[in-house]
Amino acid sequence: MKAVVYKGPRSIAVDQVDDAKIEHPCDVLVRITTTNICGSDLHMYEGRTSFETGRVFGHENLGQVIEVGPAVSKVKVGEYVVLPFNVACGFCKNCERQLSNYCLTMQPNPKFAGAAYGFADMGPYQGGQAELLRVPYGDYNCLRLGEDAAEKQTDYVMLADIFPTGWHATEMAEVYPGDSVVIYGAGPVGLMAAYSATLKSAGRVMVVDRHPDRLKLAESIGAIPIDYSQADPVQQVLDLTMGLGADAGCECVGYQAHDPSGEEHGEMTLNNLIASVRFTGRIGVVGVYVPQDPGAKDELAKQGKFPLDYGLMWFKGQKMGTGQCPVKKYNRALRDLVAAGKAKPSFVVSHEIALDEAPTAYENFDKREDGWTKVAMHPST
Ligand SMILES: [Zn+2]
Ligand SMILES: [Zn+2]
Repeated sequence: MKAVVYKGPRSIAVDQVDDAKIEHPCDVLVRITTTNICGSDLHMYEGRTSFETGRVFGHENLGQVIEVGPAVSKVKVGEYVVLPFNVACGFCKNCERQLSNYCLTMQPNPKFAGAAYGFADMGPYQGGQAELLRVPYGDYNCLRLGEDAAEKQTDYVMLADIFPTGWHATEMAEVYPGDSVVIYGAGPVGLMAAYSATLKSAGRVMVVDRHPDRLKLAESIGAIPIDYSQADPVQQVLDLTMGLGADAGCECVGYQAHDPSGEEHGEMTLNNLIASVRFTGRIGVVGVYVPQDPGAKDELAKQGKFPLDYGLMWFKGQKMGTGQCPVKKYNRALRDLVAAGKAKPSFVVSHEIALDEAPTAYENFDKREDGWTKVAMHPST
């Protein structure tokens, strides 16, 4: 089968690799019809992780079931399914508590928890930027789609990661109707957090970024764009909230946050959030942070350490939630919003391409080229 293979920093190729196949009685084999490039793929693409050369990228996957293992009883051949990026067992202590993001069974490293397709340090699972994908524990990990699956693929594929992840940010930030919400980062996840806040009837939704194309998209869903390269974003949020700060804040940038000059400051958006969220406000952090980052310039950042304004955060009585999204906690409800026509997360898609065009797409997405918001690839039709 054809697949997007990692060759080394900023180098990928669409190669022929061994076909994915059923390896366990609970596996499901999916022919991938839509798979996205994610901002978190870029950390690996840039060589900033331990991602092994020769491995296949892709954790945002949707497709049609072509084979099921003998122990699969719910999922049927021919059905369209979308796969949470979390690979989870469904029966461990964390999965039973709806924390499939920290599954204890599928992660081979006993010091870690959680697994994902095609991801550094998240187990040996191959990615879905390929013609075929093996889905472990298929009955648990497949979310089945209805009759409209094929025509709404670019909406439903967002259930694999960014729509639930954006929703999770607003859950951790406890967004209530009427709340003012500030979101740092207008990449696809930040846009989904803004969209989720809007779906939850938030009041003012403010989105901080510096890329005009992304800010324009934020504006298109009713958010207030805040360009941090023009003026201090904290002051802009305070000005919009009677000096109090936002009720809730979402971090959708992560450890490669950079200032307008392009210099990395992993703590920048966290500290901006502490400053722009009100006393007793809540903060949800879904931007990726890692315990080690040998590629960082800063000595502390190499060890995953960031100077956090903890004194101010404590003084303000704020609450902060962190970590990857437990996709299964939300994907069924979000699917039903899409099916009912109440949500259309495909508004972030800027490019739909064939798998062969992956190298060019990664390059443009990595450079944050104007207009390259979200890339959906179609390995098969
Ligand atoms: Zn993703
Ligand atoms: Zn588990």
